Amino acid sequence: MNNVTVVDHPLVAAKLSILRNKTTLPDEFRRNLQEISILLLIEAMREWETLPAQTETPLARCDTKILAQPVVLVPILRAGLGMLDGVARFLPEANVGHIGIYRNEQTLQPVSYYCRLPSELGEANVVLIDPMLATGNSATQAMTLLKQNGAARIQFVALVACPAGLARVQSAHPDVPMITAAIDPELNASGYIVPGLGDAGDRYFGTT
Ligand code: URA
Repeated sequence: MNNVTVVDHPLVAAKLSILRNKTTLPDEFRRNLQEISILLLIEAMREWETLPAQTETPLARCDTKILAQPVVLVPILRAGLGMLDGVARFLPEANVGHIGIYRNEQTLQPVSYYCRLPSELGEANVVLIDPMLATGNSATQAMTLLKQNGAARIQFVALVACPAGLARVQSAHPDVPMITAAIDPELNASGYIVPGLGDAGDRYFGTT
């Protein structure tokens, strides 16, 4: 699939295994979601531009590199907050936007209820985060909102995706690269990814 990266790394696989396990308790789920999100973000950052810089080490002046663009992290509420907790520690200088979208449980259609975004969206590397790319409706709507607010360079990081969600996003936003730890085979009738890991927000916040 074009523009989709499945991160193939033993540490990502091991952490995903813990997250999938139904007996994993919220504290362990939280820690592992935060940590795996950093690993996925590192992959998303691979092609980011850098600028040449210089610094003084204790011994000499040397050439270095700095990130060329500011970074904006945008979790889709609520489950995206679980990934934000990890990546914001890793990129403390990033500004954070929030997009609130919930899924109507009958129609499975996304309903947008909140959108607050930083002003530097146009120059930034914008990383949209949501653990589960299920139907793709919420992610597609969030990308549309980001573009309407000026975002020019968007990447989407999801923990687990499925073919239907990837196809939905790709047809609406073929320019947005997607990074994930796994592509699971299917969605069930309630719109959950199977095997997946259940409701990521409920597991993260202990609201099961
Ligand atoms: N949201 C979740 O939290 N899990 C799924 O499997 C699908 C959507």
